[in-house]
Amino acid sequence: MNVCKQCNKVYEEKSQFCEQCGDTLVQNTADVFQCDKCYKLFIDSEFCPNDGRQLKIYKRNLESNQIEIRNVEQYTVQIATDPMLLDMDEFNNCEPSYTGADSNDFMTYLNENIFHDIESFLDLNESNLKESTKDVLWHLQDHPNEDDVIYDSRNKYGNMWRELGKTNPDFRKNGGFETLETTQNN
Ligand SMILES: [Zn+2]
Ligand SMILES: [Zn+2]
Repeated sequence: MNVCKQCNKVYEEKSQFCEQCGDTLVQNTADVFQCDKCYKLFIDSEFCPNDGRQLKIYKRNLESNQIEIRNVEQYTVQIATDPMLLDMDEFNNCEPSYTGADSNDFMTYLNENIFHDIESFLDLNESNLKESTKDVLWHLQDHPNEDDVIYDSRNKYGNMWRELGKTNPDFRKNGGFETLETTQNN
């Protein structure tokens, strides 16, 4: 990476001059920070000059005796809608018609005929269903509200661990961090 020492802006290796002030760029030796709003990179700045956002570490130039440490936590949150009422008999008159006998048959019927394209099923059965049933089917297309938590694993047990490593933008799926050592599953 090359940088403009005057504007603190970071450029690709191939750039030679700053687009903003025209200064000659120099090879970067400082820590690089990123704005999580405009994604621009800067050195020696705490806030983004474009939008004032606090910058986050993107890549640190570590001495050979330096390393970075972080806490990591993993948890599961389950959310659900309120239960909605269905009469299974009502689907006997639908197209295609339901002919099963129990909840297991009914789930198979819903899975095979309705869930993959609820709107088409509703169009086809406009006159075969009660308004309240149509409402239920419409609502099944929505995701549960994120506030409607039915289970949060943090209430049962903690699952946090510690990692040593280096900030490294190549490891994007790991939060831009290259994990060298971890206490997970120890
Ligand atoms: Zn510049
Ligand atoms: Zn920004």
